[in-house]
Formats: sequence, C-alpha cells, structure tokens
Amino acid sequence: MNFRIATIPGDGIGPEVIKETIQVLEKIGEMFTHTFTFTEVLMGGCAIDATGHPLPQETIDECKKSDSVLLGAVGGPKWDTLPGHLRPETGLLGIRGALELFSNLRPAVLHEALRDACPLKPEIIGEGIDICVVRELTGGMYFGERGRRPGKMGEEGYDTEAYSVGEVERIVRNAFEIAQKRGKKLTSVDKANVLESSRVWREVVIEVAKDYPDVTLEHMLVDNAAMQLVRNPRQFDVMVTTNMFGDILSDEASMITGSIGMLPSASLGATKLGMYEPIHGSAPDIAGQNKANPIATILSAAMMLRYSFDLEKEAQVIEDAVTKVLSQNYRTGDIMSKGMTLVGTTEMGQLIIQNM
Ligand code: NAD
Repeated sequence: MNFRIATIPGDGIGPEVIKETIQVLEKIGEMFTHTFTFTEVLMGGCAIDATGHPLPQETIDECKKSDSVLLGAVGGPKWDTLPGHLRPETGLLGIRGALELFSNLRPAVLHEALRDACPLKPEIIGEGIDICVVRELTGGMYFGERGRRPGKMGEEGYDTEAYSVGEVERIVRNAFEIAQKRGKKLTSVDKANVLESSRVWREVVIEVAKDYPDVTLEHMLVDNAAMQLVRNPRQFDVMVTTNMFGDILSDEASMITGSIGMLPSASLGATKLGMYEPIHGSAPDIAGQNKANPIATILSAAMMLRYSFDLEKEAQVIEDAVTKVLSQNYRTGDIMSKGMTLVGTTEMGQLIIQNM
C-alpha cells in the first residue's frame, strides 16, 4: 500500500528524532512492501526564521493532502521573547485546529526493563502500568472566551469552560472505541459536583455508553483521579477527559512511567488523518549532540501505522523491537542506569531497526 506522510521536524532535537523514525518506517516499507512518501514541511521556530510565521499556509495545505502527519517538536529560547501569536507553539495549536484533531491519545506504558525509572513503589507498580489517556483537544477552557475586566478586588482575568453535547459525544465515542480494542474499561473524569460543563459531560457519557455495553464505565472526579493515578494506577485502562483536565492528568500519567523520551502521542479527528508526535519538547539543552532518545517518536510512528493506516502487525513489529532493545540493556542518556550500555540517538535508531 502507498501512504503519503507530511513530516514536520521542527526545532531542537526534532530533526534528529524524525530522521531515525523515517528510517524505521522505511524498514517497515521494505519488510511489508508498503511505500511511504515523505514530504518535509516547516513549522515552529524554523518556520519563523524562514517565513516570519510559525505555521505557513503551505504547511497546512501539505498536511491536509497527506494521509498522516509526523511531528518532531517545536520551540526554543531563540523565539521565547516573540509576542504570543508569533511563538513557535502557536503553530501547534494552529495545525491541530486546521486539521480538526479533537482527540489526543497518550498511552503511558511502563516498560518492564525500565521499572527502576518509575518513581512509584514496586508493590504499587505490580505487574506493570498500561494506561491510555484520551484528552479532548479543541474545546473547553483553552478555547473558551477569555479576557480581563474590572473585578471585586481590582482587575480580574477570566477564562470560560464550555462543552457542547456534540463535542463531548465525538470524543467519548472515540474513547469507547479505543477501550473496546484494549482492556474494555473506561474511566470518564470530570468535576460534575461543581461545574455545569462537567454535568453536561457526564450526561453525554452515560447516554453514549448505551452503545458500548461491552465496556465497563466508571465516573471519577478529577481530584480523586489525580490521587488514584499515584495510589493505584493499575486500576485504569482508558481515561477520557476534557482539554484542561487531560493536559494535567496525561502529564501525571507520563511521569509515573519514567522518561519523557519514551512516550508517544496521537491526535485524531473524524477522518483517518492524524498527527503523531512525541510528548516531549524540543529539548534545546541536548539538541545537535546525538543525545536525544528517539523512542517516543518511533513509537508515535507505530501509533500512526495502527490508528491511521490500520497496520496493526507493522505497529507491533516496531513496539516489539523497542522492547527488545531495552531488554538488551541499551539506553540513551535520559533512561541510563548503572550497568547499561549508553548509546546516542542514531545508534538507538539503528538498534531498533536491527531488531525489527
Ligand atoms: P522538553 O520536553 O523539551 O525538555 C524537558 C527535559 O527533558 C530536558 O532536560 C530535555 O533534555 C529532556 N528531554 C526531552 N525530550 C528528550 C528526549 N527525547 N531524549 C532525552 N531527553 C529529553 O521541555 P522544555 O524544556 O520545557 O521545553 C523546551 C522547548 O520545547 C520549549 O520551547 C517548549 O515550548 C517546547 N515544547 C514543545 C512541545 C511540542 O513541540 N509538542 C512540547 C513541549 C515543549
């Protein structure tokens, strides 16, 4: 099969991790006789330098024409003092909006070989952690009306949390479908004891659940969910929640699995076109030094194969190769521990390819 992939290397370590990931996908192409065509486009700081804008129109057009988008990371100190609308990260929100990607999937998996990197006690980790956080990405407080106005005690800033039935329904259906492919348990996280928007959220979840009788549903208040993630993370399979709660909880879930350099993500919409990226940023402190861990981006490509191209077997080949390399005790600096063999970005990429 033929697939057209737009690549956005971005800034900092972005180009280094994308380079390794393209080689992994090319290997998959050879093994399974697929053709991947890669078209590189600009976004972030490099786009500001080249065009004056973090998200050029050509980038949006190319991404829309592609079957999927693979992103490295954007941003860095060079562009930190620019006004908000010209910051590299504006490109991220812009591309998610332009491609109508409303669902963000963040698996938090603790690899057996990296148990020591988990800050939780062994008895809490038990046989391992494997959670998928599904975060609503284009609604809620980050997109609601905001501003400043006179308040009771001087000027006040305000942001608005609003969710419509349709917005909740599409993300929740997405989460139920993911739960069906995993452990068949869904935890919906809200703050329905206080927020009206959360009460709408919960009503819709209860209604949608009727179409997925094979999935066990539970509701959890966000403060309790934050606590349960560190107290007993193994109770969770798929969690679905709002943009803001998901932002916070997915970072918390990531941390309990060790390194930021290991974790992939997918942003999906109503079509098969998705955007796949590591959860980490551009890591300016290690950029250009062959120190970046490429695994998060390589695992993001595996998610692309699974969710956008329906190539489950191919996705599994990549995930198994990562597990094998870790069990052979190879580590990049961020996951290094005593007795392990330290390797750089390119060596880690090659080792994964050799194990595919
Ligand atoms: P960061 O994720 O870039 O780095 C945090 C720490 O983790 C650093 O010490 C870094 O060296 C390390 N790290 C991150 N990824 C790694 C990897 N693959 N391998 C080894 N070590 C890794 O977060 P930050 O320092 O807060 O942000 C740096 C820049 O990235 C900022 O400009 C920020 O706005 C941007 N950012 C971009 C994205 C994105 O493009 N999606 C996400 C977060 C931050």
